[in-house]
Amino acid sequence: MTPGTKKQLYNFGTLTILAVLVLTSLVLVCLAKIHLIGLILVICVSLAVFLFFRHLRHNVFRQIRSDFEKIDEKANLLAQDIEEKKKILNTIPATCERISYLFNASEKLIGLGDPEEVFDYLVNTLMELFPAADNILLFVLQKDVLRLVRSLKKSDQVIKEKHGDILEKWILKNNYSLLIDDLAQEYRFDYKKMTAFRERQIHSLVCSPLSIGEKILGVVRIESKASHTFSLDDSRLLRSISDLSVVVLERANLLRSMEELAIRDPLTTLFLRDHFFSRLKEEIKRAGGKKAGLGVLMFDIDDFKKINDTYGHVVGDIVLKRVAKILKEVIGEAGNVICRFGGEEFVALFLGGDKQKIVAIAQAVRANVENAAVSFRRKDICFTVSGGVAVYPADGVDALEMVNKADQLLYKAKRQGKNRICFIG
Ligand code: GH3
Ligand code: MG
Ligand code: MG
Repeated sequence: MTPGTKKQLYNFGTLTILAVLVLTSLVLVCLAKIHLIGLILVICVSLAVFLFFRHLRHNVFRQIRSDFEKIDEKANLLAQDIEEKKKILNTIPATCERISYLFNASEKLIGLGDPEEVFDYLVNTLMELFPAADNILLFVLQKDVLRLVRSLKKSDQVIKEKHGDILEKWILKNNYSLLIDDLAQEYRFDYKKMTAFRERQIHSLVCSPLSIGEKILGVVRIESKASHTFSLDDSRLLRSISDLSVVVLERANLLRSMEELAIRDPLTTLFLRDHFFSRLKEEIKRAGGKKAGLGVLMFDIDDFKKINDTYGHVVGDIVLKRVAKILKEVIGEAGNVICRFGGEEFVALFLGGDKQKIVAIAQAVRANVENAAVSFRRKDICFTVSGGVAVYPADGVDALEMVNKADQLLYKAKRQGKNRICFIG
């Protein structure tokens, strides 16, 4: 029986008793039993008083109970609040440690001036800051292509995503950070196609763009095999350190391009004479007097003054650029140094070939120049070069001697009628 039904029955009983008493009073009035009427009235009044106080007590109790319930509820909420605050308090020492580490790391990062140093420092710092990470991947945009420049791994794993995958594409497109608690529960990306999930059993990830405003320089990704490894705070921390790194990286890139500008000729973008000599000296020092497949190739455009005089200096400049382009195409492999020696003279340092090969390279340059032409007012302007080749150590043992020998041989070529290569052999 519910309390409501009980109360209804109780009220019904009380009313019935009162009704019976009133009816009895009326019957007694009719029977003129006055002394009994008084008694019944007393019973009625007592019963009414009793019921009134009972009702009062019930209401007071009910009010007190509801007040208690409210207080209890508040106490529970307070207890929950205290628990949460306690949890936050417990994380404060670790957070402080992170902030102080981040502060020190930032100071060191700001001091770096070389992009390669920034890459190294960034991945090492992230590994310290995120001890739960299994892998840290750093991708950098180089000539519009994303390339993996650093990867730090806790176990012996192969990172196959040399150009990133759908996560990096998403970050490049949206310029947002990405926090994934569990790849297997992720609906935005087809995780089954992801190498990280399939081959490295990665479940949680936090990624951030390396960007300044709209300009994105790269992406950094932190992976963990366990799910739910990273929090929103981790994502924010990664973004902060990425933002700082990107400023340092941009500054380092600018510094590098300024240094490049200082050693390069603005018209042809080839190196200037000083840089050529310092590289040649380095290579000769490294060779230490032994045969090292090292050669100096010197070229001079034939009758260049005539080109300038006939078609003007603008056409002369175009011819200079074309010769520089041919030199880059034929000699511009890794390690070789091509330089605009001055005016319409060029010199190249060739590494990794015997005299025969070096002479063949010089001949290829001469032939390519002969077959090239620049068009001006619907007319093809042809030009040629003469060259001299000196090989280390047979033709010279120091930088100056090598360059002088190549220069002498170049002028021999001029004397012999131009558009030819001279060498000793
Ligand atoms: P040769 O076959 O004996 O080498 O004769 P040449 O006319 O090529 O040599 P010369 O030394 O007489 O003339 C070189 C010319 O190159 C003179 C100079 O005005 C021109 N020159 C030097 N630097 C530049 C440049 O940056 N741009 C242009 N357009 N001309 C330049
Ligand atoms: Mg000349
Ligand atoms: Mg000259």
